[in-house]
Amino acid sequence: MVSPFDRGFLFAHAAYEVTAVYGGRLVDFEGHMSRLDRTLGGIALPNPLSAEAWGKVHRDLIEYNNLTEGLIYLQVTGGAYGMRDFAGPEEFEPTVFLYADTKQLIGETARDGVRAIFLDDTRWKRRDMKTTQLLSQALAYRAAREAGADTALMVEEGRVTEAASSNAWIVDSAGQLVTRELSSSILPGITRAGVLSLLEGSGLTLVERSFTPAEALGAVEAFTTSAGAMIAPVISIDGQSIGSGKPGPVTRQLQRLYYQAMGADVAAVAPWAMG
Ligand code: PLP
Repeated sequence: MVSPFDRGFLFAHAAYEVTAVYGGRLVDFEGHMSRLDRTLGGIALPNPLSAEAWGKVHRDLIEYNNLTEGLIYLQVTGGAYGMRDFAGPEEFEPTVFLYADTKQLIGETARDGVRAIFLDDTRWKRRDMKTTQLLSQALAYRAAREAGADTALMVEEGRVTEAASSNAWIVDSAGQLVTRELSSSILPGITRAGVLSLLEGSGLTLVERSFTPAEALGAVEAFTTSAGAMIAPVISIDGQSIGSGKPGPVTRQLQRLYYQAMGADVAAVAPWAMG
């Protein structure tokens, strides 16, 4: 039961995390837990569980649900105090909610890619914190669906910030990987960090900087990263094909590296990524 007075419900006073599960194991769990800690600190909430207790509840959910491939969602809110009071009590008693869901993480989206649209980024300024203030993103997905697309690339002051619920990347004409540098304008994606950690020895070069919608349209390849869809090729934006209009070789190479690092048998589960 959640009270209608819960601060998550009334004020979106809540942090959340979504951790991928592959082969029955949590992917990049420490990264998600340290980001949760940072978000909670930023929204004046105590972390209600220790790192060990978070690990146990996640592993229990995997076991109870027999989860081999999917996601674990967690949310921590400011709790409920029987009234609607903006400032709230001196000390919060958080509400904690988790659930597990099956999802094919290495599936059709990863194989075939997504279509995107450009959209104004209308979110608040602290996008580095993973809070449940997701109205802009919910509306972005509705606008994408209406346009016959799957997601939106958010644009602010003439530059792409990130995608509706993932980080945005392009491969420029020189073959360089480009993704926006970390700041309060974007969420520090755990999958983004995972991909960055795989670049050494890959032969790929990275430039961390923002890029314009025109650069995205002229890119050789584009893709997004998130725990929920891992590495998703972007095959068109606003109806215009990106590169060949099919997932490109750099995206495939990164998918291969990322899936291998998760312990996947890539040749068996993602033969299309074998290059
Ligand atoms: N950016 C936004 C706005 C997101 O909502 C998400 C994930 O939900 C991401 C980026 C990707 O973050 P992660 O890789 O940690 O899932």
